[in-house]
Parts: sequence; C-alpha cells; structure tokens
Amino acid sequence: MRDPTGFLQKEYKELVEKALDWRLKEVQGPSEPVSMVDGREVLILCANNYLGLATHPKLKKAAINAVEKYGVGSGAVRAISGTMDLHMELERRLAKFKDAEASLTYPTGFMANSGLIPQLVGKEDIIVSDELNHGSIIDGVRLSRAERAVYRHNDTAHLAEVLDEAEKHSPNYRRILVITDGVFSMDGDMAPLDEVARIGAEHGAMIYVDDAHGEGVLGKGGRGIVSHFGLTHKEVHVEMGTFSKAYGTIGGHISGSDALSKFAWNKSRTWLLSSSHPPAVAAATIAAIDVLETEPQHVKNLWMNTNYFKKAVQDLGFNTGNSQTPIIPIIVGESHKAKALADRLYEEGVFVVPIVFPMVARDLARIRVQMHAKLTTEQLDSVIGKMETIGKDLDVI
Ligand SMILES: *Cc1c(COP(=O)(O)O)cnc(C)c1O
Repeated sequence: MRDPTGFLQKEYKELVEKALDWRLKEVQGPSEPVSMVDGREVLILCANNYLGLATHPKLKKAAINAVEKYGVGSGAVRAISGTMDLHMELERRLAKFKDAEASLTYPTGFMANSGLIPQLVGKEDIIVSDELNHGSIIDGVRLSRAERAVYRHNDTAHLAEVLDEAEKHSPNYRRILVITDGVFSMDGDMAPLDEVARIGAEHGAMIYVDDAHGEGVLGKGGRGIVSHFGLTHKEVHVEMGTFSKAYGTIGGHISGSDALSKFAWNKSRTWLLSSSHPPAVAAATIAAIDVLETEPQHVKNLWMNTNYFKKAVQDLGFNTGNSQTPIIPIIVGESHKAKALADRLYEEGVFVVPIVFPMVARDLARIRVQMHAKLTTEQLDSVIGKMETIGKDLDVI
C-alpha cells in the first residue's frame, strides 16, 4: 500500500541531517537594532528594516488611526469591494514619489513578480534573466512558459550576446523581456541598470527591474535604482519593489506607464484573486512615503553606518565581496565556517544569518550583514570588536 504522507517526515529528516533545515528564532519585541530574541537581548543585523520605519511613530500612528476608522480587514479583493480610498491614495502617492504615470500595489512583492511576469510574456516570447535573480522572479518566469535565457551575473557583454543569439536563432519572438534585480540580496551589488536598459533597447526589449533592496536606499531621497541612474519609465518599463523592506510595512508594487498599471490589474491573478491590504498597512505605507519625503536623515544615517562598518571590517581583512549597498556579505568560504561565525556572534549577542549552498556557491559561504540607520557608532564598534576576535579565532582573518 502506498503511504500517502510518509515523505513529509522522511524529507524533513533529510534536511535536518544535512543541516539544511531552517530553525526559527523568535523575536519577542519590535524589529529594532536591539531587541529580544529567544529570551536574550541582541543586536539584530539581519533585518530588511533598513531605515527603522517599521517602528517609526508616524507609521504607528497612521496604522492605529486607520484601525479606528476602518477596522482591521479590507473585506475583499481589490477588484470587488476591497479597494478603499487608502489603497488609491497609496498608489497615487507612490506614483508621484517614483515620478511614474501610475503605480499599482500587490499583496506582496513575491506576488507582484509571480503574478505579473506570466502576463507580460508567454509561449511566443523570451525572457532574458540575470543568473542571480530572486526566487520570485524565477517562479514568475516558470509560470509564463516563455523561453528562458540566462546571462552571467551583471555581465552586460554577455547580455548583449544572449540577446543577439536569441534573435538570430529565432527572429520571430513576439516580445523580449529583460529582467534583473536592482540590488542583489546575497551580495549587495547593484545591477548596471543604465547599460542593461541601453542594450535591451537595441533589441526592442521590455526592461523590468526588481528593486526590493534598492528602495529607501538608493537614488534621490531613497527613490530607488531607477532614480539612482537618472533613468525614467520610458527606459525601464517596469519598476517593481516591495514595502516589506526599507518602507517598513508589507506589499509589492509596480510603477511605470498608466497602460502598465491597467494591464497589470486586469490580468494578474495574484491581484485579482487575493485580498487587498488591511487598511492599517495602506495607511502606514502612505506615512512611510511621507517620512521618506520629509526626513532625509534616515537614508543619510543608513549610508554613514554602511560606509563606517564596511571600511572597518575591510581594514580587518574580511572579504566583503562586491558590496555597494547596506547589504554587506562577509565571505568566509566553507559553509561550516560561516555557520560557526554566525553561531559565535550570536553567543556574543549579535544576530546575523549564515548564507550557504544552495543560496550561494559552495565555496562562497558567508554571513550577511544588513545595516540599519539607527545603529549607533558604539554599537557598530562593539560588533566590529567581536568580529575581530571571533574572525581571528576561526582563522577567517
Ligand atoms: C524580498 C524580495 C522580494 C519579495 O518581496 P515580499 O514583499 O517580501 O514578498 C522580491 N524580490 C526581491 C529581490 C526581494 O529581495
């Protein structure tokens, strides 16, 4: 007889044996640089809440007021009765912030990618994708059933070759979509988006950037990578992002032409068939845009801390790879070394995660540090001191 569910326990045990299972740490307070985790106070250096907006008083107040006025749930999907004035206001504010004709929000960033990409391209089309793109792009690409070509990470000469080949091989593609992360989440390096857009344009390709880790970080006042390169939505047709990182709340979004927004909401199943944000989320996210527009100190502090910390660990001899942003990998080589470094740091009160194969190549295991605008110089110095001691103990430096 077939055992219908025996694989559940078996496959989980295999993960545990290979130390590839995820063990959850319980955060028992707000996402702040210093918080309680599993009963101990630690410094958290592995949160996406780069600017501290998840606990900003203006966002909290906006959420509380929205609960009082609207309650806690939106009651429906956007297309039925789940579009509140707050959702519309958020999209207008975001479009203005992004200097776009229109913006559209999705429940999450994952759902923006997995819902929109399969509508932009299909069987008669090709997607050309950076090899290190995020998993939500990969799922979107799979759902599209478009042909798929991968170019070497950030290698625009290879991108040009792949596009030439594709068109030579099959000149009749209906559409070409070139897609890249803006900031790569494991390395903290940036896509050369200006070049990607220029090369894509030579082939009449649609250009799509996922700027999840660039927003609130890069560009004028944290407007993101499109602003950083001085590009517009005429060159980068889909600027996608998420409110779950620097904005401090949750929600995917796209910005671009009015036609893009209308197409996207009428076609994306993740938009049509999944409920809209609770009003508190929409209200807090509007407040996040307010804060980005009126309090430039957060982005400034984030970069000051990033530059200070990165230089200090580089001076100690740590390998930070190609990091150009507040994502700072500390590359140590083998996975057991990365795990040992993370474990020792945790014992000393510093919470970072080891990143190992298959998330990165086997010999490029690392811990990933994510900087925070509200960390003080004293806190950074204490982390740097601990890294020096432990790095020497473990023969990393
Ligand atoms: C986090 C992330 C997403 C997913 O965003 P969510 O809103 O958390 O679902 C998509 N793309 C990239 C590059 C990300 O880093």
